[in-house]
Amino acid sequence: MITVLAGGVGAARLLRGVLAVHPAAAVTAVVNTADDVELHGLHVSPDLDTVTYTLAGAINPETGWGLVDETWQAMATLGRYGGITWFNLGDRDLGTHLYRTQRLSEGAPLSEVTAEIVRGWDLALTVLPVTDDRLRTMVTIDEQGDGDVTEIGFQEYFVQRRHDVEVRSVRFDGADAALAGPGVLDALAGADRVVIAPSNPIVSIGPLLAVPGVRDAVVARRADTVAVSPIIAGAALKGPADRLLRELGHESSVVGVARLYRDLAATLVIDDADAHLAPAVEAEGLRCVVAPTIMSGPDEAAALGRTVLTA
Ligand code: GDP
Ligand code: CA
Repeated sequence: MITVLAGGVGAARLLRGVLAVHPAAAVTAVVNTADDVELHGLHVSPDLDTVTYTLAGAINPETGWGLVDETWQAMATLGRYGGITWFNLGDRDLGTHLYRTQRLSEGAPLSEVTAEIVRGWDLALTVLPVTDDRLRTMVTIDEQGDGDVTEIGFQEYFVQRRHDVEVRSVRFDGADAALAGPGVLDALAGADRVVIAPSNPIVSIGPLLAVPGVRDAVVARRADTVAVSPIIAGAALKGPADRLLRELGHESSVVGVARLYRDLAATLVIDDADAHLAPAVEAEGLRCVVAPTIMSGPDEAAALGRTVLTA
């Protein structure tokens, strides 16, 4: 059994690679739900959907989120009324949010609904929301850079402001009272290998670890845990991971990632581009594996999947 701690895009790509070299029935993804957002009365779970759509081969290759062959008629109608249009939801994608919202309103927990959606895409792996409880990343920003701060929801930061604003702090609303979702702690305790995917350490892996019991469960498996750095040559491939690390006082490098993960993972996989930093990573107390980590296609993903399973 392999358990992967997952955010969105980077994790989905790595999971695709892991599934190319390992039976799906023996793979569990524990996925971030702190990016979830309620819009138009609908419950949207971006990271769960990115993982599901990617593994189903149905992700929109142009955006990296949403469904392939998407149309946007519902958004155009919303725009006609002056509705909320800064968060794009495609017509095909809306079916997922309609289904999820209806099932939640009937009282089904998110974990059960997620299993139904994953089955609907004929996937055999187990996808677990980290919690069934409400968990939301809240971001304190300094919009004008004048010391006047405001707290906004994650998607208002990430999508509405295109993460182009200074971040002062991040917190995970609801984390203290949240319970790890059904199967999450067992999936960590029972795994032969735990993998921390190349996801944003602050806003994708951070919320998973903030759910009581999860961090301790990973720490207990440190010897069998392998992390993949989302930072390559000092930068994120996409998104604000590099900027967020710096703004919150960390180093935007594989060494900064090593410092964040040293208590969680015995091994860190870094990209060939960072090979010269391997001794600095090992000085932080992790074993360092140098490998190609840019998953530009299925072959690269499968190779990285093999690396994390054998490292
Ligand atoms: P999001 O929730 O969709 O923003 O995705 P993640 O939580 O997975 O965070 C995106 C992070 O994944 C960024 O820091 C990227 O640098 C990293 N990432 C995406 N694709 C790859 C990849 O192919 N290789 C590596 N090493 N990192 C990746
Ligand atoms: Ca995300």
